Amino acid sequence: MFIGHFGLGFGAKRFAPAVSLGTLFLAAQFADLLWPTLLLLGIEQVRIDPGITVFTPLDFVHYPYSHSLIAMVAWGAVFGIVYKLAWRSRPSQAILLAALVVSHWVLDVVTHRPDLPLTVGGAERYGLGLWNSIPGTLAVELPLFLAGVFLYVRSTAPRDRTGRIALAGLVLFLLAVYSTNLFGSPPPTSEAVAWVTQSMWLLVAWGYWVDRHREPVTSRPAESRR
Ligand SMILES: [Zn+2]
Repeated sequence: MFIGHFGLGFGAKRFAPAVSLGTLFLAAQFADLLWPTLLLLGIEQVRIDPGITVFTPLDFVHYPYSHSLIAMVAWGAVFGIVYKLAWRSRPSQAILLAALVVSHWVLDVVTHRPDLPLTVGGAERYGLGLWNSIPGTLAVELPLFLAGVFLYVRSTAPRDRTGRIALAGLVLFLLAVYSTNLFGSPPPTSEAVAWVTQSMWLLVAWGYWVDRHREPVTSRPAESRR
């Protein structure tokens, strides 16, 4: 799953107006942001196997530290605790961010082949394989993304022109990247996969940029923004 994770990040703004969109993206995509570094370090492995699913040629051979359920629960706990301590945030915000980190596993289970581990060392693998069907993948992921964007737009208002344009640009860019996933040719090497995935950090930065130019629409007294 790709834009579905961003959809969840967008939508979470509705429930945590004081948390920046960049932080929400960081939580929802934590597993995929960590993964390329672990690939480059040789700790996790991916193979390119065109046709393994119709949606992606990637065979996720070994990725227990970024993508097992137990690891995501641990990363989620660390994420929530660090955020709580660093920003003296409300417990509800820390819990929401931890849940977003773990949500990545749940969404990935829907789309991946049975390749997602439960634990770091265990042999069992999970995945419902929605990636075997392009219409099925689009039918799940696009509405999830659009619903999240809708919630974000409804929960925030632009402070200036940038708040409108940077958001529209981000949404269109994500949709464009998603369609190149669909129609592009498979990457040449697993190292190329890792470097392309590293560029997702730019989307996190883009989220912070958009959010600085928008403000929460809320009847409650303004919270300090992070
Ligand atoms: Zn993932």
